[in-house]
Amino acid sequence: TYAWSDEVLKVLNDVFHIKSFRPKQLAAINCTLSGQHAIVVMPTGAGKSLCYQLPALVKPGLTLVISPLVSLMEDQVRSLTKKNIPAKLMSSSSPKQETTEILNALKDSKTDMKLLYVTPERLAKSKRFMANLQKCHADGRLQRIAIDEVHCCSTWGHDFRPDYKFLGVLADMFKNVPILGLTATATTNVLIDVQKILNILGCLVIKSTFNRPNLFYKIIEKPTSQDECMLILEKLLKGRYKGQSGIIYAHSIKDAEDIASKLRQRKLKVGCYHANLDAATRSEVHLKWHDNRYQAIVATVAFGMGIDKPDVRFVIHHSISKSMENYYQESGRAGRDGLRSECVILYRMQDIFKVSTMVFSATASLKHLYGMVKYCLNGSLCRRLLIAEHFDETWGDSDCRKMCDVCCNPQTVVKEIDLKPHCATI
Ligand code: ADP
Ligand code: MG
Ligand code: ZN
Repeated sequence: TYAWSDEVLKVLNDVFHIKSFRPKQLAAINCTLSGQHAIVVMPTGAGKSLCYQLPALVKPGLTLVISPLVSLMEDQVRSLTKKNIPAKLMSSSSPKQETTEILNALKDSKTDMKLLYVTPERLAKSKRFMANLQKCHADGRLQRIAIDEVHCCSTWGHDFRPDYKFLGVLADMFKNVPILGLTATATTNVLIDVQKILNILGCLVIKSTFNRPNLFYKIIEKPTSQDECMLILEKLLKGRYKGQSGIIYAHSIKDAEDIASKLRQRKLKVGCYHANLDAATRSEVHLKWHDNRYQAIVATVAFGMGIDKPDVRFVIHHSISKSMENYYQESGRAGRDGLRSECVILYRMQDIFKVSTMVFSATASLKHLYGMVKYCLNGSLCRRLLIAEHFDETWGDSDCRKMCDVCCNPQTVVKEIDLKPHCATI
């Protein structure tokens, strides 16, 4: 135990109303509270935010949170405010009045502001903000700097943001302020690159496992004919996944609309979700799916944020994702309740070209796509082994427990469209 351990538990229960920590959360919290730089690597949804939100309330002073997406920050500030935690957000679109108030709060030793969310370009481009932040630090009130989606620093990552490069000055500029990076990207070269860029090379990396033992991974060979492809989906939804809830991811808005309407012609109850629908329609579709009035949602990857349905039994990819990271995240929406669920990709070679035209802008993107293709083409290695390898983990052969098509039935992998339940004993 540490000097702060009692307080940590008290805040967990009384402020966050959470009963217990998830794996590695407490390790991350103790590490950052002891003043060390650290990087936390956990899958999406595992609970990275708590690793800096909770420490912020345990010690005096301000926690600066750098995050790339204003919408994500808004969600967080809203939920913190609901818990009566003084949190503020500052972006280039903040009202002038509010910006002034926040800038003043940075200089004010009596402010109650505990967390301040900013975009990286705010840091990079606002001299006044940096000056006030330095004042806050000089007064000993800058408690910690949390950098969310920290892989955005690295051009090796799948999500590089130029403004994140600027964050390299923080370690030097704010001496003795612990930096806590957070990401769901686990590849070693990205993590080392990030440490170099942030000038915290050799810091502690706290990582929880990416293994989802209840997910069954499978590839189905995708027929060239659109009709045959729809037949597969129809059979799956009326057979194996009858009465179960799921998501079908499509490559484009047009594909999503096409697939949804063809499935409806086949008397299936499905919704369609993509970025071109207005907000009201999107939330209605989401709600109908959530209440099981739709068996499945056919969606582009725009369907992602805010999905908290625990009993998603299948996630079918009608086309491959653009990287293994993306695939892991999208397919990971299945089985949040811990029960057996299936992650299926309909794979055909032509789709590589379809997806690659979208990501051609950077050679790094092609590398990411290649990882995805390797996963699909493989017909002899355990799929979980490939996922583990990708996230630089070793899960061991015995860990699959026949929870992938290769381990379950190597003879039929890809070549045969098997619509019967796999390994019914599990
Ligand atoms: P991440 O950033 O890793 O994707 P979040 O921090 O957004 O994940 O957390 C995802 C959800 O999990 C949030 O709704 C959060 O309140 C919840 N959560 C986090 N930690 C715990 C916990 N120990 N017990 C229960 N729920 C938790
Ligand atoms: Mg997060
Ligand atoms: Zn396997």
